[in-house]
Amino acid sequence: MSVDAWSPSGPAGQSRRRVLFVTGTRADFGKLKPLIREVACREEFEYRIFATGMHMLSRYGLTVNEIYRSGFDHIYPYVNQDGSVNTQMDLVLANTIQGLGHFVREFPPDLIVVHGDRVETLAGAIVGALNNTLVAHIEGGEISGTVDELIRHAVSKLSHLHFVANDDARVRLMQMGETCESISVIGSPDVDVMLSDSLPSMDEVRAHYDIAFGHYGILLYHPVTTEVAGLRERIATVVSAVQRSDWNFVVLYPNNDTGSDVILETVLKLQGNSRFRCLPSMRFEYFLTLLKHARAVVGNSSCGVREAPVYGVPSVNIGTRQANRYRYPSIVDVLEDETSILAALDHLPRAIPPSFHFGRGQSAKLFVGSLQTPRMWATPRQKQFRDMVVNGDQDRPREIVPGVERPDRRVPAIGVSQ
Ligand code: UDP
Repeated sequence: MSVDAWSPSGPAGQSRRRVLFVTGTRADFGKLKPLIREVACREEFEYRIFATGMHMLSRYGLTVNEIYRSGFDHIYPYVNQDGSVNTQMDLVLANTIQGLGHFVREFPPDLIVVHGDRVETLAGAIVGALNNTLVAHIEGGEISGTVDELIRHAVSKLSHLHFVANDDARVRLMQMGETCESISVIGSPDVDVMLSDSLPSMDEVRAHYDIAFGHYGILLYHPVTTEVAGLRERIATVVSAVQRSDWNFVVLYPNNDTGSDVILETVLKLQGNSRFRCLPSMRFEYFLTLLKHARAVVGNSSCGVREAPVYGVPSVNIGTRQANRYRYPSIVDVLEDETSILAALDHLPRAIPPSFHFGRGQSAKLFVGSLQTPRMWATPRQKQFRDMVVNGDQDRPREIVPGVERPDRRVPAIGVSQ
């Protein structure tokens, strides 16, 4: 492997657009992968991948190797933290800004692409904004619990271009003052992979990950950074519920947000029990096949409210982590309460049709289509806050016509007697 900077020009002498993708976890890589593939096969673009975060931690399965195995060859691995159990997210942010900042000033890209709501995403957006480089944010405009909610919207404000999953997300970004011309609805790129014919068979998945049982659920439970105080009791309740059920479970390790050490410690007590197969992480396509054939997803992963409904697989969504997110008949919401979890497992919704709320598998094509328009590259680095007309009724807010209309913000006074 050799380290390569950007090429000076394309095959016909023209300069190629330099697109830098930043990835910090299995979660964002699965979604960036279809986009990187589509960019990589176009002559007019060059790509580089800055791989950091959990990808570089052996405790979490050293998933940078998945990026290599996916056939990409312009990968810059960067260790932004050590594998110690109690991650300090603010320090990880600082380290990533430092490492990525060095990279961007040494090898300036034309566009930095970030996904979602991770600390590494925020670092990517900050580095882009502070180095006057265009930032494209994939899947902004969503709502959720935990610190992800804060990070996601902060990233949107630091990004120049938004590629969102659906119209709900588009409208939220407009509410945040983003201009409609900066927002493209492309769907969620993981749906491209979910609906593709490139997934491994269930037999391959079983063989690869040594899964011995037949029917199974998937357990994925992450920390909620705003509720770390009661975490030990909550994860103990979840683990006790799955133990008391008669189900088999594939158990995936949590992400490395603050509190993950507590979850990992508890979850690892399941190891050695033949009803549970504990794995640090699975390759995205393998995970999707596992999901497609699962009885249910249990826990608080985004996959329970976003991906499982695409396959019509039921989810037992526990706690607040996915608060305010998509609701669908296949999703059963419960708190970290043993009886409720067991009842949900016993009375799962059945025969729920697939949901296409997050797209129909065209995201990568739509994304590259946007990158091929000269207008996109002419996007001003100086962002403007676009005021909205807020009607105070059920109407969706719309942008005011700049210089013609004035914003009408009839916000009711709170706590003032009439
Ligand atoms: N995922 C994966 N391998 C795994 C577990 C999850 O590829 O072993 C994918 C999953 O399909 C989803 C994403 O990672 O797209 C998010 O999962 P996770 O629960 O890790 O994070 P969240 O989005 O809830 O923060």
